[in-house]
Amino acid sequence: MKKIQQTLVIIKPDGLIKSLTGNILTALSETKLKIVGAKILKVPKKLAELHYGELKYKKPEVFPSAIKYLMGGFHTNRVLALVYQGLNAVNSIRKICGPTNPEEADPTTIRGRYGRINSKTGVFENVIHTSESVETAENEIKLWFLPEELCERIFKTKKIIKTSEKFIWV
Ligand code: ADP
Repeated sequence: MKKIQQTLVIIKPDGLIKSLTGNILTALSETKLKIVGAKILKVPKKLAELHYGELKYKKPEVFPSAIKYLMGGFHTNRVLALVYQGLNAVNSIRKICGPTNPEEADPTTIRGRYGRINSKTGVFENVIHTSESVETAENEIKLWFLPEELCERIFKTKKIIKTSEKFIWV
């Protein structure tokens, strides 16, 4: 059954340094899904490690380089994180992105078109991350975005009173 879902997309540092943002967003717009959150950020180590928490156990040999890659150690230290919402969002986006290994990806997919295996580091520089299931999507969106950063209240929230230091415009 087709369902309204949300999924996390990250245009990785190689996508940004290669000026692929426009091309990638255009390719993703074929899905007719709605963007409900977007931000550009420098990925802190803690966020990268939490994001790849499972990779640490599933593929320990690539974990350090995947962290370095996401934090910008090979390209530029920025990523564009987005939340897409709509019918079958998870699989629709995954299909357009293609599989992890860009050499195995169909050349019409984003990873097949723009990715490469770095011959020096062996890293799959596949320009984009997307959530692999509805469950991981929810965890990843909650990790990358605060409720107030999304234009729809897609998951349950609770109100807390918090005092903290932050920068404001002067
Ligand atoms: P995906 O990003 O498709 O969900 P994984 O979570 O397994 O894939 O891996 C995270 C990232 O680590 C990949 O996107 C890729 O950049 C890198 N990576 C994964 N497996 C390999 C590998 N065998 N060799 C080199 N890099 C890899």
